[in-house]
Amino acid sequence: LNTPDPVALGAGLRPDALAAIELVTSQRWSYRALDLDIQRAITALSAQGIGPSDRVAALAHNSVYLIILQQALMRMGAILVPLNWRLSASELARLLEDCDPKLLYCDREVPPLPEGCRALSFDSFRTALATANPAARRPPGSASTPCIILYTSGTSGTPKGALLTPTFLMATAVNFSVLGEVGAGATFLCDTPMFHVIGIVTQIWPTLLQGGKIVVSTGFDPVETNERLGDPELGVTHYFCVPQMANALAQAENFDPSQWRSLKALFTGGAPIPASTIHAWLDRGVKLVDGYGMTETGTTLGMSLAPELLRSKAGTVGLPGPLTAIRLVDEADRDVPEGTPGEILVRGLSVIEGYWNRPEERARSFTEDGWLRTGDIGRRDSDGYIAIVDRRKDMFISGGENVYPLEVETALSTHAIVREVAVIGIADATWGEVGCAFVVIEPGARPDHDALTAHCRALIAHYKVPKRYEFVETLPRTASGKVMKHVLSKQLAE
Ligand code: ATP
Ligand code: MG
Repeated sequence: LNTPDPVALGAGLRPDALAAIELVTSQRWSYRALDLDIQRAITALSAQGIGPSDRVAALAHNSVYLIILQQALMRMGAILVPLNWRLSASELARLLEDCDPKLLYCDREVPPLPEGCRALSFDSFRTALATANPAARRPPGSASTPCIILYTSGTSGTPKGALLTPTFLMATAVNFSVLGEVGAGATFLCDTPMFHVIGIVTQIWPTLLQGGKIVVSTGFDPVETNERLGDPELGVTHYFCVPQMANALAQAENFDPSQWRSLKALFTGGAPIPASTIHAWLDRGVKLVDGYGMTETGTTLGMSLAPELLRSKAGTVGLPGPLTAIRLVDEADRDVPEGTPGEILVRGLSVIEGYWNRPEERARSFTEDGWLRTGDIGRRDSDGYIAIVDRRKDMFISGGENVYPLEVETALSTHAIVREVAVIGIADATWGEVGCAFVVIEPGARPDHDALTAHCRALIAHYKVPKRYEFVETLPRTASGKVMKHVLSKQLAE
């Protein structure tokens, strides 16, 4: 298979159609202009000594130029490594050591670099395009050559470098454009950081494949994003964020979803969102659409956009996209019946072949016949819709019964004093393990252990009710808003 190239195709099919807008500068690209800038970027990158299979890291805010960099490296057979700018200098140094790039484009303080890596300002990439001639066209390379190393969020430990290929990107483009109804008329607001799969793949590739336009801001800001969603001139039709960002939007002082007239749906994923929150958004007139995916699998499951299904299936993440198959299995890899929780296995074109520098991880995370073990537990209903039960690692066993912390968290989060909550299993002499809840209470509320216990007992089985509470100021979260439970376990041990 040859490398799929949506921008080159778009430049042929619809040269003058608008492909991209950079919001800070109001710069605009037609498909033809975007394609030419990608060819100029190849000249600029070659002048920096970049060739096939070299890594180029980027530590930069969202920008159309980051997309140009990604597409140019892909056409060259080279690899982009988008890095999470919320990591500390030492965490970044470890990732740079791991991916060993020749070049780092950086729009902030430069972290310690490994030997053989130079840092250049991201602006220098931008300005180099102004004077570079478009490179001569080469035949496309192989669609199975990695073109992005994307580090996982590190929720369960250290981030792993997932190897994304052009096939993976195209499969996510197809999956999401079918599930999310992205067409030529789509205007996708791209606020979600481009160091995550949502940012660099899901909000970009379906739109460019279908001939829509991407509107790129430097990043998410609750007030500014509210403005952008309500701006009639932009006419945003699609927006994708993680649940924490959706909450922040709703809490902003200028929140007024009645102004989001062109928005087809607000997509979320990456972390659990309670059914009650989905209903609250639907009541405000916004279609909130949950979906499931991972760095390793791109867009995997997505909801229908039909209003009646959004309501009746709230609490599920929908059905697999057309290029993805899933199974739910028990500990012995046997398929579980409808309604029974099982680990989600994924196979298809939008699944990575492995991780950078970690051959042992491949063996651990795939079955012999090539299904990726997601480590997530799901449950299937009679229509095939999947609900995410929890991460397998987070499950604990109390008195011989399985407890999924997510269910306990959902119960606790409906109590008035609870602002945020995370539950982990801890060792217990009597029960083997019991739940410990870390609770951030609402400002001014009184920490009340007994009230929370009574509240849980009314909602869930007694063995699931936490035996211990820790009232804390904040929860340790990843950039995508997920609670890092291994950090909580460590805190408790210390
Ligand atoms: P690491 O693999 O480094 O521990 P991570 O798994 O959090 O980090 P990502 O690839 O960013 O890194 O996240 C994928 C995970 O996010 C999934 O495996 C799942 O646990 C969770 N997730 C994704 N979408 C949803 C969703 N809609 N509802 C609940 N959980 C979700
Ligand atoms: Mg993971």
